[in-house]
Amino acid sequence: MHNVTIIGGGPAGLAAAVYNARASLKPLVIAGSPPGGQLMLTSEVENYPGFESILGAELIANMRKQAEKFGAVFQDIKVKSISKEGNNFKLVLTNDREISSRAVLVATGADAMWLGLDSEQRLRGKGVSACATCDGFFYKDRIIGVVGGGDSAMEEALVLTKFAKKVYVIHRRDEFRASKIMQKRVLDHEKIEVVWNAQVDEVLGKDKVEGVKLSEGKGTSKIPNELKLDGLFVAIGHKPNSGFLKGSGVEVDEKGYVFTSARMAIELIKQINNNKTGGTKVPDKKLFDFNYQYQTSVKGIFAAGDVVDFSYRQAATAVGMGVAASLEVEKYLET
Ligand code: NAP
Repeated sequence: MHNVTIIGGGPAGLAAAVYNARASLKPLVIAGSPPGGQLMLTSEVENYPGFESILGAELIANMRKQAEKFGAVFQDIKVKSISKEGNNFKLVLTNDREISSRAVLVATGADAMWLGLDSEQRLRGKGVSACATCDGFFYKDRIIGVVGGGDSAMEEALVLTKFAKKVYVIHRRDEFRASKIMQKRVLDHEKIEVVWNAQVDEVLGKDKVEGVKLSEGKGTSKIPNELKLDGLFVAIGHKPNSGFLKGSGVEVDEKGYVFTSARMAIELIKQINNNKTGGTKVPDKKLFDFNYQYQTSVKGIFAAGDVVDFSYRQAATAVGMGVAASLEVEKYLET
């Protein structure tokens, strides 16, 4: 019987592991497979306080070493399901092994989203990718497309300029959603050209990417029907990894983000202030204990990081939330 099982080996899970380990709880961390989360797919991180610049993988390795030093135990595998057994929880892993735990902290993060085209899935790994840092190297002096208009798309495009001879950013509207500073870097870059108001309908090529078929997106400007490309990077956002919580009683929103008491409080106040029932559909507030901000609708299951956070999604915010949730786990176990 473990005191606490932390599910997820990204910044939220590792920060929680450091704290729970220092509190002598000997946390078990089910760190995922491959472990480490989205930071493993990033190159330089320049906005993590205390480090002017650090590789994402190095930051993760440091956090994990720190947690292990204080007694956290790691398994690099995923969880298939969680169910309640009396006051405790039974976790089934993807190798069908079972784990019993008094408390659970869900910190499973989020994954990249795809356009949902058959041609895109057929050509994944053959020119279609969602990680410039991982695959950019293969596109030296080539022509690449990046789909999206958020910070991820800007970041991917900028990384790719280190390798490619030309990068097209293909966006479905006529303005970016990304932060002003990232937009400026992209718009000012001599290797980057933006194709506004364009939707990717098909990825062309039999065994490798040769281009994309485009149609008009949400704007009115004229766009090319086809674009010749050697690679396509999809950077259109992320989906929270909460599917395994089905049947556990943990409530999630329509996108799959986990409801905690803190999120519930905000949603309920929004409803009171706006005097309307529309917007996000929230579960019954009686399911939540508002003494614990990061507890879910199931007593004893806590959640932190990108699987909860639909608005900030930063390594530093994930760490902060992981620490807060770990302190609540301690309080929960004591009482
Ligand atoms: P995002 O902000 O949700 O942006 C997703 C982009 O993809 C949007 O421009 C959206 O278009 C487009 N899109 C979504 N579905 C699409 C589809 N089916 N076809 C075509 N385009 C589609 O996601 P993100 O860029 O991953 O960023 C997520 C969060 O992480 C943000 O808060 C961001 O600031 C943060 N982030 C920060 C950094 C950094 O600071 N260095 C780096 C990466 C991410 P519309 O605009 O038309 O909706």
